[in-house]
Amino acid sequence: MQRFSPGDFSIELPAVVDGDVRAAVERASGAFVGWRGTTLAEREGCLKRAQERLAGKKEALAYGIALETGKPITEALGEIGAVIAKIDLAIADARRYLAEQTEADCANPNSIRRRPRGVAGVIGPFNFPVHLAHGAITAYLLAGNTVIFKPSPLAAGVCGVYGELMRESFPEGVFEIVQGGASVGQAMVSHPAVRSVCFTGSVTAGRAIAKATAEDLSKDVALELGGKNAAIVLADADLELAAQSVAEAMCLTSGQRCNSTSRVLVDQRVESTFIDLLRAKLGAFVPGDPLLATTKLGPVVSDIAKQRYVETIGQPLDWIVAGGALESVAGKRGHYVLPAVARAPLRVAANLPIFRDEVFAPVVVVVATTSDEAAIGLANATDYGLTTSVFTPDRDRFLAMVDRLEAGNVYQNLPTTFSPGTLPFGGWKNSGNGRPGGRGFVRFATDEQVVQMKK
Ligand code: NAD
Repeated sequence: MQRFSPGDFSIELPAVVDGDVRAAVERASGAFVGWRGTTLAEREGCLKRAQERLAGKKEALAYGIALETGKPITEALGEIGAVIAKIDLAIADARRYLAEQTEADCANPNSIRRRPRGVAGVIGPFNFPVHLAHGAITAYLLAGNTVIFKPSPLAAGVCGVYGELMRESFPEGVFEIVQGGASVGQAMVSHPAVRSVCFTGSVTAGRAIAKATAEDLSKDVALELGGKNAAIVLADADLELAAQSVAEAMCLTSGQRCNSTSRVLVDQRVESTFIDLLRAKLGAFVPGDPLLATTKLGPVVSDIAKQRYVETIGQPLDWIVAGGALESVAGKRGHYVLPAVARAPLRVAANLPIFRDEVFAPVVVVVATTSDEAAIGLANATDYGLTTSVFTPDRDRFLAMVDRLEAGNVYQNLPTTFSPGTLPFGGWKNSGNGRPGGRGFVRFATDEQVVQMKK
């Protein structure tokens, strides 16, 4: 069995101290004057240099993510692979969306331009500590903004290493990193010189940021928040595929993805076969050391996360896969948890906390449905609207449902966690706005300026 160790992926996680937001904003404001005047080609050059540096530390960065957050090393390597690939996607987006436009249907010569906003503040979560922030950071930088990044304190070390690799790829002050918790985040987003904010994290923190920035209308705020994502399994579905997809989408990153599956709405005629298959597929997700290449289910990130899981599986529900928390795995202490599945009756499901609230652990609730209408109604019966999957071979039936599903991303026969990075990604309702994930965020990272000259 291959175990990745510091000998393989050596990384020195820096000691972290709360950052000085005011000094970082001053440096970033100063640097904006020169950075906004650079050409896109020059900015691309800096990003390509950053890409080389990040690629040179790929394994070390992945090791840092696994060490700090408990994410299995194979997933962590995937995250850093996406970080490196993102730079080429962001450059393609910048070339496409930043190009000046002209409107032919206008009497006067004119141009429609996209201009940088100034200093941008990016706040990241722990679950994709580098990749999600990096998507916004690359878009902001390519558009000519300067950036301050405040990572999650739960991944401060690895983000510190990422920050150093980025910082040395740009002129001084163009990219800054400040470390700390909520108060540092609040100080950053409230600073009058920070003109654009991209936040990825919980609804609670998203609301606090929206409130802190509400008075200053010069700020733009993009929010990527939580999800309560449903897999709809119709009677004609390939049940093997549906069960495998649900098992994966509930266990990847130990259920700590914004797009993890946490609700299954299955046609009552196939419910019992589906549950048997799901139980069997979950057998492959055994908690293990995140540094082992074979591990598919690492620990959850913290004691608080584990407590939330323990409280959830303690709720008086019909637990058909019981779950449980483990103190240690193979002699290694950690916040290990087992996959858990509850069943809830159709008529009460929508009122249950397990149906409405994000648990952020490998937990799903299964509800037997009576029709496509019932499945759509239940899928929409939460405050979230991030991803929904429908399992059916019938494309027309799927497309008829798509129009009525309240989710920013809808999939046929793919897991709710499917987001390849080459398409836009983002949520509706309380799952967010501005679509910072995936393609096209560079539009948000700019102000539109319309120029007319009298003929
Ligand atoms: P979190 O909200 O606890 O923290 C996220 C970041 O916000 C951290 O850097 C934290 O220090 C900072 N923060 C917390 N309170 C703040 C405040 N009042 N003001 C300013 N900054 C504040 O979230 P988390 O536990 O790190 O991440 C998990 C959450 O993120 C889940 O809800 C998940 O669904 C969501 N998420 C969403 C997406 C998406 O694309 N929609 C992606 C990943 C994670």
